[in-house]
Amino acid sequence: MNLILLGPPGAGKGTQAKLLSARFNIPQISTGEILRSAVRESTVMGVRAKGFMDSGSLVPDEVVVGIVEERLLKADCQNGFILDGFPRTIPQADALGQTLQGLGKDLNHVIAITVDTNELIARITGRRTCIKCGKGYHITFDPPKVDGVCDLCGSDLCQRDDDKEETLRMRLQVYDKQTEPLISYYTAQSLVRTVLGQGSIEDIQRSIINLVEERA
Ligand code: AMP
Repeated sequence: MNLILLGPPGAGKGTQAKLLSARFNIPQISTGEILRSAVRESTVMGVRAKGFMDSGSLVPDEVVVGIVEERLLKADCQNGFILDGFPRTIPQADALGQTLQGLGKDLNHVIAITVDTNELIARITGRRTCIKCGKGYHITFDPPKVDGVCDLCGSDLCQRDDDKEETLRMRLQVYDKQTEPLISYYTAQSLVRTVLGQGSIEDIQRSIINLVEERA
C-alpha cells in the first residue's frame, strides 16, 4: 500500500502516519522528521535546510526530492510506505510520480485531512518536543508527567521555532499557496479521499482505515 497523507501543519498527519505504519507494517516517511534530525546532527543538508524551516518556508524541492528518492529505495519500502509531509509542491508531486514509475510502483491512496484553522493554531502552538529524543507532547492534549520534562528520557522539552505563532501563520499561508493545489492535482488522478481530522485520534484512524480498506 503506497499512501500519501496530505493536510496543513497540525492536521495530525504525523500521528496518523505512525498508527498506520504500525497497523500495516510499512514505514512512515516524514520529510519534516528527516530534516529535523539532519538539523540536530548539523549535517550539510541540515545546515542548508535550517533557515528555511525556522522561517516557515519550504526547503528547496531538489533537497526533499533527493531525500525521498533515496528513502524509497530502501528494502523496508518494498511492501509500501506512508508519505507524511511530502509532496508539498506540484514539482515534488511530479518528481514523485517519475520516481515511482521508475520503480514500477503506483500510488494507491491520497488521504487529505482537513481541520479548522483555529484548531490548527491551538494544536501547534501547544506542541512541545524533547530536545534529545524528539518525542512529541502537547501542553493540553498530551502533557508530559512532569511539566517541561520528557517522560522517556528525562531531557527538557522545547517548542519548535517553527511552531511559534508568527512562523506558524507563515506555514499556513505556504500550505494554502503551494500544497493545497495538490488536492486538485491528485483528484484529477482519482486518488483523493478526505477525512475530517477533528475528534479522537482513534476515530480519525478508523475513518482512514475504512477508506483504505474499501479500496484495497
Ligand atoms: P513538518 O514537520 O512536516 O511540518 O515540516 C517542518 C518543516 O520542514 C516545513 O515547514 C518545511 O520547512 C520543511 N519540510 C518538510 N517537508 C517538506 C517538503 N516536502 N518540502 C519542503 N519543505 C519541507
